[in-house]
Amino acid sequence: LNDQGPVPAIPAARTAVVAPGPGVTVLAGPTAVGKGTVSAYVRDHFPQAWLSVSATTRPARPGEQEGVHYFFTSPEEFDELVERDQMLEWAVVHGLNRYGTRRDRVEEAVAAGRHVLLEIDLQGARQVRRSMPDATFVFLAPPSWDELVSRLVGRGTEGPEEQRRRLDTARLELAAEPEFDAVVVNDTVERAADELVRLMGLDPERRSPQA
Ligand code: 5GP
Repeated sequence: LNDQGPVPAIPAARTAVVAPGPGVTVLAGPTAVGKGTVSAYVRDHFPQAWLSVSATTRPARPGEQEGVHYFFTSPEEFDELVERDQMLEWAVVHGLNRYGTRRDRVEEAVAAGRHVLLEIDLQGARQVRRSMPDATFVFLAPPSWDELVSRLVGRGTEGPEEQRRRLDTARLELAAEPEFDAVVVNDTVERAADELVRLMGLDPERRSPQA
């Protein structure tokens, strides 16, 4: 699996740029780096943060709930949202399904003074950069390339062919790190989430007691 070329450079932590206040923070990063885990931790421990729920055309996995993990959307409904310009960004991810962020929900949350977090892929992050240049863009990096490979293999949700494809994509995604305002290394979920919350302009000490 790990024989596809030289080990890519892994971005070092860069955490000087902090969001000036409420608004949009985008979290992106390579496959299997743990974006979903870190953003779910933020959602569950920091009530001041508002995690955007994406629309997707992929079917729900066991345990996933409508409106919590995703809005599960038919291809026809998704087409309509795009045609009506209701998507702040959207992309085909891993060559399979479409994923997108509803513009109205994000705008309402921003207007209400929330600290909004979008957990999206690199293509989506680039689209948000064009339409919301003042947003804060955070890249989540693995501690090492080997760690990324073992997380992808360890979660066992993809077969070997798909794993290989995702690692190729991860190489390209790692190279996009200079486009971001900040880099957080996902060494442990709690630490990475604290760092992310701080970059969002929130106080990591103000976590809710809920586990
Ligand atoms: P999964 O199918 O494993 O839940 O997610 C696959 C990928 O889709 C992840 O890399 C995730 O960041 C990305 N993704 C989830 N929601 C969105 C979205 O609204 N927009 C974009 N561009 N990517 C998304």
